Amino acid sequence: MCDTIFKTNKLRGISDNPKGKIMYRQNSKEAFNKAKRVIPGGVDSPVRAFKSVGGTPVFIKKGEGAYLIDIDDNRYIDFVQSWGPLIFGHCDKDIQKAVVKASKKGLSFGAPVKAETKLAKEICLLFDEIDKIRFVSSGTEAVMSAIRLARGYTGRDDIVKFEGCYHGHSDSLLVQAGSGAATFGTPSSPGVPADFTKHTLLAKYNDIDSVKQCFINSKDIACVIIEPIAGNMGLVPADVEFLQELKDLCEENGALLIFDEVMSGFRASLKGATGLVKVKPDLITFGKVIGGGMPVGAFGGFEEIMDQLSPDGPVYQAGTLSGNPVAMSAGLSALKKITSSFDMYEDLEEKATLLMKGLEKEAKKVGIPLQVSVRGSMFGFFFNENEVKNFDDALQSDTKMFAKFHKGMLNEGFYFACSQFETGFISTKIKTEHIQKCIEAAAKVFKDIE
Ligand SMILES: *Cc1c(COP(=O)(O)O)cnc(C)c1O
Repeated sequence: MCDTIFKTNKLRGISDNPKGKIMYRQNSKEAFNKAKRVIPGGVDSPVRAFKSVGGTPVFIKKGEGAYLIDIDDNRYIDFVQSWGPLIFGHCDKDIQKAVVKASKKGLSFGAPVKAETKLAKEICLLFDEIDKIRFVSSGTEAVMSAIRLARGYTGRDDIVKFEGCYHGHSDSLLVQAGSGAATFGTPSSPGVPADFTKHTLLAKYNDIDSVKQCFINSKDIACVIIEPIAGNMGLVPADVEFLQELKDLCEENGALLIFDEVMSGFRASLKGATGLVKVKPDLITFGKVIGGGMPVGAFGGFEEIMDQLSPDGPVYQAGTLSGNPVAMSAGLSALKKITSSFDMYEDLEEKATLLMKGLEKEAKKVGIPLQVSVRGSMFGFFFNENEVKNFDDALQSDTKMFAKFHKGMLNEGFYFACSQFETGFISTKIKTEHIQKCIEAAAKVFKDIE
C-alpha cells in the first residue's frame, strides 16, 4: 500500500524529494504576482497569503484524495483541507456524484428544495439540542445570525466572546479575533465603528472568573459565544468543567450559550464538541464540514428560540443563495457518509494522535519544546515551553521557529496551515503511511532548524 502510494507518483513531491532537493514553485510565484495586481494582497482571505511564514502562497491546480497538486506539479499531503471542510479529502467520488447530479437540474432557484429539509432532518436527528436549523452560506453568516437571534430572543444587547476565538469577520466580533488578525497583530480592524463593538465584552478562555466579571459589569448580556474547542488560536480545547460553569452562569443570568462549532462540528466527533463535553448549548453554529466543500453555514437550536426567526417571528434573517440545492446536496452526501461510517472518528483520531506523538518525540530528540493536542480529526502543535490554555499562552509560542518548520515541511511535500495559530486536519484519505512519512520528514526538518 505504502509503496504504491509513493512509487506511482510521477510528480515532484514526497516520492522523489527525499534527498532534500529544492522544490521549485516558479509558476506559483508568477501567478501570485499577477494576482496581486488585481486582488488586494493577491488573496481573497488574508490567512492564505503566507504572511506569517514568509514566501509565496502555493497556487493549487487540483486535489487528489490526500494530496494537493500545485501549478508547478509539486505534490503535497494536505493537512489543511480547505481549512476544515474536506473530511473526505479531495474529489470524494460520492460527494462529486451528488454535486454533478444536483447541478444538472439547475444551480439555484431561490425557492425551497427538498434537499434542505433532508439535511435539516439529519442534523435535528443527530442533536438533542437542535429542533430546528436554518442554512446560510458561510460560518460568518451563521454566527452573525445566531447572535442577532440571541439578542432578539432575550431582548438584550451585550455579548461575551473570548480572546483568541474567531467567529467570522462580522463587525461586532472583530474584537481581538484570533487566526489572521492575531497573526498580524491587529486586535481589531479599522472600519469597525467603536459603537458597534461596545456591546462585545471580552473574556479569557478557560478562565471562569473573567466571565463572572463580565456578568458583574453588565446586566444586559444576551449570550456568551465560544468555540468549545478553540481552533483559531491554534488548537486549544476548553476544559469540561469550565464549559459546565459557563453553562450554569448563563442560566443563572438568563443569557444564552452559543457553541460556535463551525470548525469543530463533524470534526472533533460526530456531534462536534457538543458530543464530547456533554454541556448543552442553547444555539449551535456550523460551517465547513457541513457543506462537504461547498459554501454552507447553519445555526440551530431549540424550537422556542428558532421560531423567533422571520417569517414566523420578528428576528430578520435572509439569503439569496441560502439552502442552495447544489451546496445542500454536497452537505447531505458528506453527512450521510459520516453517519454511516461507524468508527470513522476513532480512526481519524488515531492517525492525528500518531502524528502528534511522532512530532513531539522527534522535536524532543533535538531539544525543541512542542505542545501538542488532538480532538478527533483535529490536531494542533505549539512551539512553546508551556501548556497552552488561552490566547496569551498561545502568543508565547515561537512563531519564527514555526515559520522555519512550515517552510521545511512544504519543501518535503507536506502542506500545513501557514500560521502557528491554526488547526491541522486529518481526512479519511490520509493513511498511516502518509503519517509515518510526515514524521520522518519532520525529524529531518527539526534537525535543520533547532
Ligand atoms: C471558519 C470559522 C468561522 C467563519 O466561517 P467562514 O465560513 O470563514 O465565514 C466562524 N467560526 C469558526 C469557529 C470558524 O472556525
